[in-house]
Amino acid sequence: MAENPLLELKQVTKTFLLESGTSIKVLENVDLSLFPGEIVTLLGPSGSGKSTCLRIMGGLMEQTSGEIFSFGSHFKGPNPNVALVFQSFALFPWDTVFENIALALEPLQLTPEEVKNRVKKVIDLVGLEGFEEAYPRELSGGMKQRVGIARALVMDRAVLLLDEPFSALDILTADSLRSEIVDIFQNKQTGTRTILLVTHNIHEAVFMSHRILVMGVNPGHIRGQVINDLPFPRVEGSAPFNQMVERVHSLVTETLMPDVPQTAPLGTAPAGSTPNNSLQVLPNVSVSEVIGLLETIHADGGSGDIFKLGQQIGKDFGYTLFLVKAAEILELVDTPKQKVILTELGKHLVEGDINVQKRMLHELYGDLTLVSEVAQLLRQSPTLRLPVDLVSEKLTEWLPNENPSELLSSLITWGRFAEYFGYNDDTKELYLDVGQETS
Ligand code: ADP
Ligand code: MG
Repeated sequence: MAENPLLELKQVTKTFLLESGTSIKVLENVDLSLFPGEIVTLLGPSGSGKSTCLRIMGGLMEQTSGEIFSFGSHFKGPNPNVALVFQSFALFPWDTVFENIALALEPLQLTPEEVKNRVKKVIDLVGLEGFEEAYPRELSGGMKQRVGIARALVMDRAVLLLDEPFSALDILTADSLRSEIVDIFQNKQTGTRTILLVTHNIHEAVFMSHRILVMGVNPGHIRGQVINDLPFPRVEGSAPFNQMVERVHSLVTETLMPDVPQTAPLGTAPAGSTPNNSLQVLPNVSVSEVIGLLETIHADGGSGDIFKLGQQIGKDFGYTLFLVKAAEILELVDTPKQKVILTELGKHLVEGDINVQKRMLHELYGDLTLVSEVAQLLRQSPTLRLPVDLVSEKLTEWLPNENPSELLSSLITWGRFAEYFGYNDDTKELYLDVGQETS
């Protein structure tokens, strides 16, 4: 693109200092440019730093390092060229729709006539005609969000930043608002020259934007970009639309679900040797939620899409990934791209009763390298039990990059269900459950 960016982040990093004194890095080296004429989406799971990035772009929050350029010049502080819309925001209950929108114009000190004209114009644009005198309590969620969008549009600013503006709305309302915003933008009905949309919804990104930036986590960073050159208006469900969704899906999946490293079996390691850190670590998720996930896939005919599955089981995308990963490590599912497919084992487990499930998990869980190492450790104790602190120490030694209390917590919950380990809360000891081994 020949023109200069309207807003630009260069190598922006953000670190929060927590009350406990520790600091967390939320954004790392983010480079991002918004050019005239484009809608860009920032796509990432919750917690990836999208909102933080937007706040920094709007100047509501200061970056820890890196620079911001607005219209080509170095910029700091609240940016007068930027308008923001959040998922939910405050409307003043004692003000009408008209007044709530007009509020945004106050700093401009316009004449009442000018205010009226500008507010009237955006009211028409966002479909609020007839609601000018209504109060917020009389409005549906969709109508309230229209007021929020109108309030941003009325300022006629060049850069519009939208933070998950449709995620609290019902499907139909969200669909029509998406189209309306694209139309308003394409028809140049306001001063908006570029839009950045934050979302975790891939269809929304493909429907609305020219470029999709995919974020990775820990710390948040931009992993890659997909150029979306489908012509407008875009048709959901059409073949080119679906292809674009697939492309974005694969980039997101690649970003968030690296293949589980293949590990060599350690069962043959001589006693007393230290296992390397290719130990398989089961995410610390609940057994029943993993089984619930498998049941959902089974009910859908044995395969599902990871994004839809998250919605079906009511979990956010990041957590769903952990559930899928746990199931994958146990060989209960395969995950080609963003698909999650039950394996024969997985199918068997879902169809079995609780005893079958326990027996199967006992086998599968016991095959994990970390589990067999811990079992080995317990076996070396004459009582087949050890204080958890000691186990925790070993875990830290084997897996220095993992959180030992998470590991332990996972070992206890999964170990109990699979009747592999037991934990005595009074003595704080982990023990080998030999009930099944001997039966
Ligand atoms: P997203 O919008 O992608 O869900 P956010 O930008 O809201 O992500 O948050 C990113 C991370 O930063 C999260 O882990 C969140 O807990 C943390 N975070 C956000 N704001 C603050 C803050 N003011 N203080 C400490 N941590 C914060
Ligand atoms: Mg957010």
